[in-house]
Amino acid sequence: MNHTFFKRYAFPFLAALLLVGCTTPQAPKQDKPRLIVFMAVDGLPQSQVVGYRDQLAPDGLRRFLDRGAWFADARYGHAFTVTGAGHATMLTGAYPHRTGIIGNDWRDRASGEPVYCTGDTAYTYIGHKTKPLDGTSPKNLMVETVGDVLKRADVRAKVIAISGKDRGAILPAGKTGVAYMYMDATGQFASSTFYMNEHPAWVTAFNAAKPADRYFKASWSPLLPDSAYAKSLPDGQPWYAPGGKLPKVLGESDAKPGPAFYAALIRSPYGDALTLDFARAAIAGESLGQDEVPDILSVSLSTHDYINHGYGPESRLSHDHLLHLDRLLEAFFQDLDRMVGKDRYLLVLTADHGFMPAPEYAKLLGRDAGRQNIPQALADVNAALTQKFGEPKLARGWSASGVLLDDGVIAQKKLDQRAVEEEARRVLLTEPGVAAAFTRTELENPASLPADTPFLAQVRNTWNRERSADVQVVVKQYWLFESRRTFAATHGSPYAPDYTVPILFYGPRWVAPGRIDQAVEVVGIAPTLASILAIPAPSASEGKPLPIAPVR
Ligand SMILES: [Zn+2]
Repeated sequence: MNHTFFKRYAFPFLAALLLVGCTTPQAPKQDKPRLIVFMAVDGLPQSQVVGYRDQLAPDGLRRFLDRGAWFADARYGHAFTVTGAGHATMLTGAYPHRTGIIGNDWRDRASGEPVYCTGDTAYTYIGHKTKPLDGTSPKNLMVETVGDVLKRADVRAKVIAISGKDRGAILPAGKTGVAYMYMDATGQFASSTFYMNEHPAWVTAFNAAKPADRYFKASWSPLLPDSAYAKSLPDGQPWYAPGGKLPKVLGESDAKPGPAFYAALIRSPYGDALTLDFARAAIAGESLGQDEVPDILSVSLSTHDYINHGYGPESRLSHDHLLHLDRLLEAFFQDLDRMVGKDRYLLVLTADHGFMPAPEYAKLLGRDAGRQNIPQALADVNAALTQKFGEPKLARGWSASGVLLDDGVIAQKKLDQRAVEEEARRVLLTEPGVAAAFTRTELENPASLPADTPFLAQVRNTWNRERSADVQVVVKQYWLFESRRTFAATHGSPYAPDYTVPILFYGPRWVAPGRIDQAVEVVGIAPTLASILAIPAPSASEGKPLPIAPVR
């Protein structure tokens, strides 16, 4: 937004001419990148990146592994590893206890009403219907991002965030960047009235060409011969969501492109292709990386998460999706070389969380695994609380990773808050899928438990005093804590498959290549980027800068 005609149309040509003359190897190494391309692959565990390394293209993810810096042990440190929480952490350098994004959704503590992490009824999608809980603004994000600091340092800096999911765009965009998200109903990308009143011409032109419709009746077929998928589970397992078999044709039973097709599109490799095409359009349309003021482009690719939810990370569908994505990334990276210029941008790739195996698959491996019935757990808590305290529905509902108690009734009836919490916890611990539970009283008092209590540090990082529920629940490993039946597998636990994610850097002028085994956290990305951009780290950042060797 706010781009002049000159900037949009004439500048790219002038910049391209200038760039041709400026690309000299003698340029000082400490120059800031013109553009940071920050990528998130939704729901990508690090184990999948290294597990399929021998099948990756030379210049896709292997650009990082072969010629970039990559971390073998990178993790999130918060317990409830879900999309909103992860995307809020990446560029703020802060965990949910500080960002306030404690989950994808939660309940307002005062009213008990549902809150969506990026929901804000003051704003609507541009040119699209908007439901009350749709994500339209960063109102709930309590802290600043690297992009916010960058824009404060120089108002000319541009920060653009793009994703298949609203929260995947809005949270990395921070308070002052601009977010564009995929619209399931139309196959278009839209921003919201929080950011602008109308789309810039490049967005309107992108949508007018109906690029999603190019994929109508397109087939998702395996990239490699059957023998290449020996490490992953064959299609059609009984716990899979519908459509768990390749090849599949998008919009197969539809006469013309419509909402069902557009929703299926973002759940196929073509959804990533479309998102990356929109990112290319943003680079051209906003002239990203073309002047001396650094810009940030954040691209969160949502499809991998949808595939993993539907079929599990161990499925051939997930394996094949990653291979397709890898080839799409290769083409995108090579376009960045052309559009922005080699050695002029820094590329970073991470994930918002990893993924747990499907419980049915974990059972086949001999694990204690299952599906926790969430409504039943709440009913059990309320039955016990009613019996003990004589009040119905003292537990108002699930809120993010915990059970929200009715503070109003507890105060009005002069019940002992701590005793109500304790009883709720006692019942939750009898549920088959619950490993641990922590009460508000414990979490508000640092000295109440030994610091090395299992899960405590992660739960503290997840728990925000003003927003979080009163009894925090930790699911057992391999247990699925999710009531949607269409989910074969999920994430959101404090175990390694969920918290171990890729952190990959590529930018030969700023980052020396190599594998780094030292344990690092995702909260280290934001201060590292701030350091490379020579700006202060975001104010709530709690991460140690990543141990990236300086370029010699
Ligand atoms: Zn996610």
